Amino acid sequence: MFRSVLVLGTIRGIRIEIHISWLVIFVLLLVSLGAGLNQAYSDWSPATVLVTTVVTVLMFFASILAHELGHSVVAIRRGVPVKAITLFIFGGMAQISKDSESANDEFWIAIAGPAVSFALAAGFLMLSLPAAGISEPLSVALTWLGLINLVVAIFNLIPGFPLDGGRVFRALVWKFTGDAARGMRAAVMGGRLVAYGLFAVGLWSMLAMGNLLGGLWIMIIAWFLLNMAEASGRDFKLRKRLSSLHARDLADRDLPLVAPTLPVEQWVHDHMLAGGRRAHFVGDRDAVIGLVTLTDARKLARERWSQTTVADIMTPLEKLVRVAPDSSAEEILQLINQHSLNQLPVMDGDQVLGWIDRRRLLSTIELHLELKS
Ligand SMILES: [Zn+2]
Repeated sequence: MFRSVLVLGTIRGIRIEIHISWLVIFVLLLVSLGAGLNQAYSDWSPATVLVTTVVTVLMFFASILAHELGHSVVAIRRGVPVKAITLFIFGGMAQISKDSESANDEFWIAIAGPAVSFALAAGFLMLSLPAAGISEPLSVALTWLGLINLVVAIFNLIPGFPLDGGRVFRALVWKFTGDAARGMRAAVMGGRLVAYGLFAVGLWSMLAMGNLLGGLWIMIIAWFLLNMAEASGRDFKLRKRLSSLHARDLADRDLPLVAPTLPVEQWVHDHMLAGGRRAHFVGDRDAVIGLVTLTDARKLARERWSQTTVADIMTPLEKLVRVAPDSSAEEILQLINQHSLNQLPVMDGDQVLGWIDRRRLLSTIELHLELKS
């Protein structure tokens, strides 16, 4: 199967990966920096230009990675899990798997990235001074890295979602008004303004400055930012509405049950295939003891199906991932994704009130949302 990301490894449990689109910006940077150096320093040998260009561009991407690691390390310290960091055509992105629960978390996670970029900028620029006496290519590379990290830090602090500055802005509005939704609206509005502004800059540099490629590039980034801002706004609204829906509203009270002594063979043919259900609860209405699923049956050799009972292969109730009646739809979706579940019981203490099926959940949520609006 074709995969669009290449996994480089893991740092502190965070997967570091490169998206295929990154190659475009990598090549673009190599070509433009190489051409720039070649023109500005005509006394450098082609080998010097080549080595300086490649090392500098690689160091630039290491800097982007460090910026994302800055966000990630703070997030993890504050109990917000980070799955992966992806380098792609527009830079880097840390896949933080849930929203911050407090304005403080949001603020510190967002500010950590630009803080790393500022520190790198200062470090590279300071090193470039003594390097000037040692080697010209080295000092040129360090100066370029210092300036580009400064640009990354400042650009990211522009107060529009999804840029870091937008998140900082959102956290501040949230902090001072106590209203997360108002913070989000302000940051999305900021994001729109940033995108329109960048679009204008791109257009201007294409038409007035004649910089076709650079202008087009800025316009593409503007378009990407606009989409991200709108999507984050929509996402936030949906999540807010989801948080008002609870497991008790979404659960199917009608439990598909089978007896513990039922042989697997008979369960598969008479219940699973005949009923078109991939899972059944084991036991009776008041004493459910476990859940048996298609996956459990597949783990058992077919010739043993007739001598084995469903109780032998089921997952016992106490080991099942479950939700409480007042868990929100958002939490349920998160659990389902996190554990790749197809169904989960809704339990009040050790009593099974009902169950939630992944495939039906989404249509049930849609119906609830349509009724509300
Ligand atoms: Zn950032």
